[in-house]
Amino acid sequence: MNLRQNNQTAQRSLILMNIFLLTIHASLLVFFAAIGVGLMAFVNVFSVLFYTLSFFILSKNKITVYIFATFLEIMIHMFLAVISTGWNMGFQLYFIACVAIVYYADYFSVRMGQRHIKGIGFSIVSGALYLTSLLVTRLMGSLYNLGEVLELTGLVLNSVAVFGFVTVFFGMQTRLAAFYEEELGRQATHDKLTGMVNRHFLVEQLEEIYAKHDMASSWIAILDIDNFKGINDKYGHLCGDFVLRTMSELIKQICGDRTVCRWGGEEFVIVGSDSAPDENGRQTEGAILEDIRRTVAIKDFVYDEKTTINLTVTIGVARYQEGQSVDEWVNVADARLYKGKQTGKNKVVETD
Ligand code: GH3
Ligand code: MG
Ligand code: MG
Repeated sequence: MNLRQNNQTAQRSLILMNIFLLTIHASLLVFFAAIGVGLMAFVNVFSVLFYTLSFFILSKNKITVYIFATFLEIMIHMFLAVISTGWNMGFQLYFIACVAIVYYADYFSVRMGQRHIKGIGFSIVSGALYLTSLLVTRLMGSLYNLGEVLELTGLVLNSVAVFGFVTVFFGMQTRLAAFYEEELGRQATHDKLTGMVNRHFLVEQLEEIYAKHDMASSWIAILDIDNFKGINDKYGHLCGDFVLRTMSELIKQICGDRTVCRWGGEEFVIVGSDSAPDENGRQTEGAILEDIRRTVAIKDFVYDEKTTINLTVTIGVARYQEGQSVDEWVNVADARLYKGKQTGKNKVVETD
């Protein structure tokens, strides 16, 4: 997602949040009016007006202004709610829940490329107001005396709301973190265009097999598309990308569960470990690679339903020789690929 899409998504989720906050404050207005807490009913008239106006702020995409203003509204609202209804009703619990939100706003502002909202600052303000309201209510009592039943009901409702929020919020964050972790891991080891593993991953995998001395029957093949630059030059890079994707699908299909990798540019590497000859007496790697070469040579690559492209590939292959390093092994295949290119292309080269 680019920054513009990010901003649109952010704007949409904030509009949803604004609808939620507007509904809550409208309900609180009715609730406070019903239990006779006039000050809070009055405060909620302003809150409802504020959240109505906020749709306008959000429509102008002023995300940071919205977050600052909303934070301020919540802080003032909560402080006055604790002072009015007292510590026993539990409105101070929202100051703690706010800490989770401000750190999310911190991350959000950086990601959206907006002015940085520093979570620590907001967190300190929230904590300070929590303590101030504690001291004020302890030293001076609350503005309204609501009685034990109402206080207990309020405390239960506020506790449920805060626990519910914290559970949903952190549950969501944990799932998001796990998702991004997996996605980042995938991006580091896979090529975006073809979905194949990348060179970095394959080399690591080869080093691991090598460390286990498990290379005896292995072979490696480097496949390079012939005259690929000409495709880009003639039909454009998008067409070149289409060819690379189609070629990767074809290779994957023919190679089955062997390891296939986009080595870079228009080069692919295949690693297999079959040593037994097939029913026609051919080494299996020779048969597979010849299959790929022949299939490509007769295939029509049809781009955009109107451009038909015909291609060939040259493949250098090397069976692992005892005592070789991974680098030396790859270099033998590469040298054979070079030999194939020098001697007319469109061939599989298995010997020096
Ligand atoms: P040869 O037959 O000798 O292999 O010639 P060639 O034209 O295939 O090889 P050359 O190395 O001259 O050109 C490879 C081209 O591959 C150059 C580069 O622009 C293109 N290429 C590399 N990666 C990509 C990619 O991801 N997408 C596209 N469209 N082109 C790419
Ligand atoms: Mg090349
Ligand atoms: Mg090439």
